[in-house]
Amino acid sequence: MWMRKLERSDLTTIKAKKGWLKMHLILFGPPGAGKGTQAERIAKKMGIPHISTGDMFREAAAKKTELGFKVKEYMDKGELVPDDIVVRVVEERLKQSDCEKGFLLDGFPRTVFQAEVLDRILERLNRKVDAVINLEVGEEEIIRRLSNRRVCRVCGAVYHLIFNPPKVQGRCDKCGGELYQRDDDREEAIKRRLKVYLEQTKPLIEYYRKKGILVDVDGNKSIGEVEKSIEQILKEIKD
Ligand code: ADP
Ligand code: ADP
Ligand code: ZN
Repeated sequence: MWMRKLERSDLTTIKAKKGWLKMHLILFGPPGAGKGTQAERIAKKMGIPHISTGDMFREAAAKKTELGFKVKEYMDKGELVPDDIVVRVVEERLKQSDCEKGFLLDGFPRTVFQAEVLDRILERLNRKVDAVINLEVGEEEIIRRLSNRRVCRVCGAVYHLIFNPPKVQGRCDKCGGELYQRDDDREEAIKRRLKVYLEQTKPLIEYYRKKGILVDVDGNKSIGEVEKSIEQILKEIKD
């Protein structure tokens, strides 16, 4: 099964690579696919920053900054934040010095426009996206994951009431913070987000496949198994 995936992938194109450093990776997939969960683990292991536009927007909303006010209404409804706002935030983030080591993007890009802007930003820096890891997860599983997701109000750590529960109910293992359910993880917003994904974000699969840098991963397996698959891919790229 695994070998078949590997052969169908674009690994041979991606392979002409350096080491772990300077890897510019995108973790792609529908809402609830496990992008954030995997991104945190992988980025930590690789020593590159994990950049999640969703986390950045939620933080801004919690701090009630000007950006926070602007993005909250879109997020709560399950709509995409407008491209001009998103690309401005990402461009600023990518200028920070930690990104010189490379980065792992999670939840960005979400439209073809955003992907094109990202390409232009990287081109100016003489860099490019090295690989896009596409987490494939069925719709039923997505709904199971999103409807029981809980997030730490303090540090943003992600839990699942059944698949990845905290040690103490309602409390974050890492910082003891309160766990809450995101406003957009309620039924109506979940439905809306899945529709938005199909219409506006899924076309990016073809965008990156054409460039020869998309690698499919079966995201339906357990958190540990998916992590192993991604690590295997990254190892292949590195070697
Ligand atoms: P995304 O960032 O793609 O929206 P998350 O990483 O937040 O996804 O995961 C969505 C929910 O599913 C969370 O509650 C998380 O704990 C859970 N989850 C993530 N990966 C898996 C997995 N492989 N199996 C079961 N549950 C998972
Ligand atoms: P999930 O992975 O569960 O869909 P995220 O945390 O990535 O959620 O994003 C939450 C919300 O933040 C999105 O539904 C959208 O409103 C907004 N958002 C995050 N990233 C982007 C982006 N790249 N473009 C537009 N909106 C975004
Ligand atoms: Zn926490």
